[in-house]
Amino acid sequence: MKSMAAYNGREIPKEDKVFAASGKALDAVSKFGPAEVINATVGALYDDEGQLLVLKSVDRVIRSLEPKDYAAYAPIAGTPGFKRAIMKAALGSYEPKSYTCAVATPGGTASIRNAVANYSCPGDRILTHSWHWAPYKTIAAELYRGIEHFEMFDDAGGFNIADFDYKVKKLTRNQEHLVIILNTPANNPTGYALTMDDWYGVKQTLDEIPLEKKIALVLDVAYIDFAGEPEEVRGFYSIIDNLRANILPIIAYSASKTFTFYGARCAAMICFAHSPEVAEEFGRINSFSSRATWSNPPRAPQEVIERIYADGDLLAEVEAERAQARKMLLARGRAFEEEAAKCGLETVPFSAGFFVTIPCKDPDRLCEKLNEKNVFLIPFDGGVRVSVAASSEDKCRRLPALIKSAMEELE
Ligand code: PLP
Repeated sequence: MKSMAAYNGREIPKEDKVFAASGKALDAVSKFGPAEVINATVGALYDDEGQLLVLKSVDRVIRSLEPKDYAAYAPIAGTPGFKRAIMKAALGSYEPKSYTCAVATPGGTASIRNAVANYSCPGDRILTHSWHWAPYKTIAAELYRGIEHFEMFDDAGGFNIADFDYKVKKLTRNQEHLVIILNTPANNPTGYALTMDDWYGVKQTLDEIPLEKKIALVLDVAYIDFAGEPEEVRGFYSIIDNLRANILPIIAYSASKTFTFYGARCAAMICFAHSPEVAEEFGRINSFSSRATWSNPPRAPQEVIERIYADGDLLAEVEAERAQARKMLLARGRAFEEEAAKCGLETVPFSAGFFVTIPCKDPDRLCEKLNEKNVFLIPFDGGVRVSVAASSEDKCRRLPALIKSAMEELE
């Protein structure tokens, strides 16, 4: 007997590429020491000394929790205090005219999962951009959906609105429901952010979809608080707040990066609905899915976020610390870009964030070649991803030439 599982048509790989690459990097670190190895595989922020960066102010609040704050169950959709606080965190000063509703989920992953489960049908295709976070496909497959992608960039390096338009119209001809996932700003893996012009293009396409077709527009903003000035990077809210009634924008707002507590598993999905009924339904249907999947979301991170937003001084401290970390990250991205330009290394259009991507023909071979130089990156379809979040500025400066020379060695 070699297998007992019911695969149900899902393709389940033997090994996860990200974990395999980071495993190799950790082996190299233990063999050669951290200074000799560039481990740019990790999707978390590390300081220049190679330690996981945890905001001290957030850490202090976590340590002040009492047993009742973490041991008790939280309501399925989240505690009321958390829901109020996370709306402030996600929206900033933006005041939506739409009817909003927030549902807590254990991580942004779970928000995306619920959105796919509740706003598409088994057998449907979910639309996202060609450069995308691999778990979108896993989530779709787990829920018996498929993924369709539009080319993210056109030949001029701009957001490919023509292919977006073509794919949205193609899919809505055959499907009653469509879930579209856009990961912006600071897209994983490219670092791209849709410009306001890109957003007007998205709106124009959505305005042309017949009203009887129902579209959930999922905005995966996992990296929004490391993408640039908080108000500026939220500029697109005014657009998603003004779409037609058959479009339901859902913000998947992860606390993992924003509060540097990836393992605490905390996020909220927030809808911008046209009617109170659709907002109420959003709360109800997603709570039902949560109940059936993980049940109650962790209480401790909700308590932490509620306390931060209840205390102006504490909030200012968290924001100042985060701004400092953001500055460090942006400097690393710029350092990488500068050196890439100097040595003629092409990158996929980058604006800000945790990652930069280098297009290449054979990403697996390039990663293997770089492993020989003790450099560890993640292979994607069509390119390799560099985590500037996990590499010091000095290492970000060294990386482009190392990648370029490995590419030349493979030619
Ligand atoms: N979306 C993207 C693009 C991500 O890279 C991640 C995390 O790596 C997430 C969503 C969700 O993260 P989490 O489930 O930890 O909140």
